[in-house]
Order: sequence, then structure tokens, then C-alpha cells
Amino acid sequence: MAYRINKAAVIGSGVMGAGIAAHLANVGIPVYMFDIVPQSLTEEEQQKGLTLEDRAVRNRIAEENRQKLLKQKPSPLFDKRRIDLITACNLEDDLDKLKEVDWIVEVVVERLDVKREVLAKIEPYRKENAIVSTNTSGISVEAMSEGRSEEFRRHFLGTHFFNPPRYLKLLEVIPTAKTDSEVVQFMKDFGEKVLGKGVVLAKDTPNFIANRIGCYGLMVTVEEMMKGGYSVGEVDSVTGPVIGRPKSATFRTLDVVGLDTFAHVAHNVRENVSDPAEQEVFRLPDFMAQMVEKGWIGAKAGQGFFKKV
Ligand code: NAD
Repeated sequence: MAYRINKAAVIGSGVMGAGIAAHLANVGIPVYMFDIVPQSLTEEEQQKGLTLEDRAVRNRIAEENRQKLLKQKPSPLFDKRRIDLITACNLEDDLDKLKEVDWIVEVVVERLDVKREVLAKIEPYRKENAIVSTNTSGISVEAMSEGRSEEFRRHFLGTHFFNPPRYLKLLEVIPTAKTDSEVVQFMKDFGEKVLGKGVVLAKDTPNFIANRIGCYGLMVTVEEMMKGGYSVGEVDSVTGPVIGRPKSATFRTLDVVGLDTFAHVAHNVRENVSDPAEQEVFRLPDFMAQMVEKGWIGAKAGQGFFKKV
């Protein structure tokens, strides 16, 4: 089977979904970018007399996230004119559009139950031989596809992009025991040659490679910071500009990732490793759990460790 990606769909238009869509558009691939239908109207929508049945409301989440891409800083890796190649869609009215695409990337919240639900929803609309992948940070790819057809599972794998997808070169490709080897080889070649990524094949183990190590490093850093009484600013400085990195590898990065997403990632590995000492390392510190509760989840909320990020 010769695979080719002429058109793609991204399911979930948040930090990563929109970023992946922008990267695909930037290499000339048209993308349908899906999100959920809002359950309530904004004040502005109410003032305009719109209802929950209006298309502008139903597509609002994906469209707002598409518009945010236009506000990003200019970059040689991102031509804003290409954003026209992205079409905002919703997961109730537009599923038929999935029949047109060669690759569907699932990029919804980091929860196994939600991801399973989304895969079940899209399966009837997937065209034969279309590839489906997940951008999960570390949930079992195999477990996610349980209940799907064998044909679906042969075409299903993990494609883990890093944030922001247009700058960060790493792409982890995670096959399951069921993924067709031709699909894996195609994704590896496509990732390298078309998307310009450095592809690493990873096993379907909790948090794969980069997040298993990265999340561990972050937890240990936070623990030592608290023991030593260092400040967030001090840690960021010595894991960032002071050692020649343009951005901090610690708290500024966490703000970019989103503390809610990070909490799910840490929880996932904690739930899936058997060594109690390792489980303890991945326990989210109370102060970070409180930040998540308060909604101080980083750049997407306008408040994380830093206010204006
Ligand atoms: P996000 O919170 O920015 O976006 C998640 C999107 O999912 C939102 O647009 C939300 O409306 C949508 N969503 C919520 N519930 C849904 C449902 N029931 N059905 C469909 N869509 C729903 O999250 P994100 O940071 O973009 O993360 C998305 C995925 O990418 C996660 O699996 C995450 O682990 C992974 N990831 C995140 C990063 C990162 O740095 N943030 C990096 C790599 C991978």
C-alpha cells in the first residue's frame, strides 16, 4: 500500500492541535481542525442574539483557536497566509469531512476515557486506509484503540509532537503491536521528509521516552527547589538563559505546556509504573495541584508561574 497525505484532520484545537494544524498547513497540507460544540453562549454571542444552534457558535472553539494562530510571532517556519488552509469544524456537524482525509490526528485532552470516546466517534467516518494517530503525551496507545476494528488498529499509532510543534524537532512515533509496519515506515519517512522532524521510534511504555525522562527531571527539580528554598526565578534562570538556553527548561516551559496537561502526564506515569519509589517521584506537589484547581494553568489561561507569558 502506498500511503500519501493530501489532506488531514486534527481533532482538538487547543495548544497542540492548533500547533500541529499550523505546521501541516505550513507544508501545504489542508487541515480540518475539529473541536467540541460549546454548551453555553458567551456574553458577546448573547448580545448578538445568537443561539446554540448557530454555526458560528457551534464552530467557535476551533475558530477562536485558528484565529489565535494569526496572532503568533512571525517565524520562518510559519507562514501566516497558510492559515487559510485550516478549516474550523465541530465534532457534531462536520464528521462527514473526515471521509476526505488521509490522516486524522487526535489531540484532545490527556484522558484515556475522552480519547477512547473520540476514536469511537470518528471510526465510522474514517476512509479505508486512512492513518489515525494520537498525540498523547504518554497514555498507552494500544489501550486507547481497544474496541476499534482490526483494520483501524492496523492504521493506528502514536505521533507525539512537542510544544510548539513548528519549532521543536522531535517527533516520537509509537507503534502498537497491531500497527502495520508499512504505516510505521510511512509515518517515519513522512515525519522526516515532509514535516522536517527528527523521528524517534518509541515503545508504547508510560510516557514513552522524552516525557518519561522530562517529567522525572521536572519533579526532581521541584523537590530540590523546595528543599533548598530556591525561587522559581532562580531555577528558571539556571535552567535557561544563564546556561545558554533561550528559554527556561523548567517553569516557563511548564507554563507553555499547561499545568493541567502536565498534571495528567504525571498522573499517567504514576498510575502505570509498579515501583513505589518511582510512583512517589511522580506525585504532583500540593502547590502545583492548587494552581491547577485555581485555574493558574499557564499561558493558555494568562496565569501560571508567570502572569504574562
Ligand atoms: P489543550 O487543553 O490545550 O486542548 C485540548 C482540546 O481538547 C481543547 O481544545 C478542548 O476543547 C478539546 N476537548 C476537550 N474535551 C473534549 C472532548 N470530550 N472531545 C473532543 N475534544 C475535547 O491541550 P493540549 O496541550 O493541546 O493537549 C492535547 C494533547 O496533546 C494531550 O493528549 C496532551 O497530552 C498532548 N500534548 C501536549 C503537549 C503540551 O505541551 N501541551 C505536548 C505534547 C503532547
